[in-house]
Amino acid sequence: MIVMKPEATDEEIDAVVLRVESVGCSAHLSRGDLLTVIGAIGERDDVQSLGLEGAPGVDHLVPILKPYKLASSQFRKGERSVFEIGGRRVGGEHFGLIAGPCTVESREQTLAVADVVADNGATMLRGGAYKPRTSPYSFQGLGQEGLRLLQEAKDRTGLPIVTELMDARDIEAVVEVADVIQIGARNMQNYPLLAEVGRTDCAVLLKRGLSATLEELLMAAEYVLKEGNERVMLCERGIRTHETAYRFTLDLLAIPALQEMSHLPVIVDPSHAPGRRDWVKPMSLAAAAAGADGIIVEVHNEPEKAICDGPQALPTEVFAHFAGQVRQVAELAGKGISAAV
Ligand code: PEP
Ligand code: MN
Repeated sequence: MIVMKPEATDEEIDAVVLRVESVGCSAHLSRGDLLTVIGAIGERDDVQSLGLEGAPGVDHLVPILKPYKLASSQFRKGERSVFEIGGRRVGGEHFGLIAGPCTVESREQTLAVADVVADNGATMLRGGAYKPRTSPYSFQGLGQEGLRLLQEAKDRTGLPIVTELMDARDIEAVVEVADVIQIGARNMQNYPLLAEVGRTDCAVLLKRGLSATLEELLMAAEYVLKEGNERVMLCERGIRTHETAYRFTLDLLAIPALQEMSHLPVIVDPSHAPGRRDWVKPMSLAAAAAGADGIIVEVHNEPEKAICDGPQALPTEVFAHFAGQVRQVAELAGKGISAAV
C-alpha cells in the first residue's frame, strides 16, 4: 500500500501507478478527501525493487502481505498445519510430548530415559549427539556414536527421534536416524544450514534464536519451507532480556502470537529458560494451558551426573506424574497427547 502525501499532484500519482504497473503489478487507486493511497497487487519483492520510498509525492509504504509468505497463516487461509512424523500427528488437536536427555551420554543413560518416556506416553524422544556448547572446552557430544545409540533407542521403543544438526557435513548421518532435525537457537539464522534441511524430507524443529523476534523466526522457517520441506515446527525456548534471575525469559505470549501469524505448530521448550528443574513443570503446564502444540522437555535417569544441563533435567522417577499433569492441562486446552496412529 503506497500512501501519497496530501499535496501529491495528479502527475506524481500517475507516475507511481505507471511504475507499479511496469513491474507487472496492478495498481488500485483510492482517492480520499485528505489522502490518496495506491494498492499495489503482485509480488512484494517486485514492488520493493522500485524503491518508491522517497519518490515524488510518496509519503510512505505499508506492506500488507507478510514477508514470510509460506509460513504465514494467510498461506493456509487460517487453517492450522497438522502433519505426521514417524506415525505421530503434530499440530491442531495433537499435542506433541517430546522428552529425553539433553545429550546422549551413554548406552545405559539413553536407553533408561527412552524406556521411561516411552512407557509414559511420550510422542517422541529427544537427545543431542552434536551439542552446541558455549565453551569449546565443554563436551561436544558423542557424534556418530550418539546417533547409533539413538537408533538403538528408536528400534527398542518405536519413538521417533528428535536430534540436533549443527553442521551440514553431518546431514546424511543425522537424517538416517532422525525423524526430526533440531535446529538449535544458535543456528536459527544459519541460512545455508536452513536451506540444506529444507532439501531433506525430514521434519524440522526450529528453535527461536536467543534474541530473535517472532518475525525473524518465521523468516528462518521460510528458508526451510521455500526448499519444499513443509514439516516445520516452531520452538519457543526463552530469549535474552535484562532479567538475570533465570537463564532466559520464556516468552509464552509467543504461543498465541505465532499461532496467529503462522499455520505451523508451536512447541515450547520449558527446560532451558528456567535452568532448574523445579520451574520446568510450571512452565510446561503454562505452555499447555496457553495452547502450545507440544513441549520438548529434558529428562535424565541420573541428573546429578549429567554431562550437560543436569540441573534442569526432570528425573525419570517424576516423569509419569509430570506427563499425567501435562496431559490434563493439554486436554483442558482441547488437545490430546499424540501417540502412534
Ligand atoms: C538443547 O535443546 O539441548 C539446546 C541446546 O537447545 P537451544 O538450542 O535452544 O539452546
Ligand atoms: Mn540442553
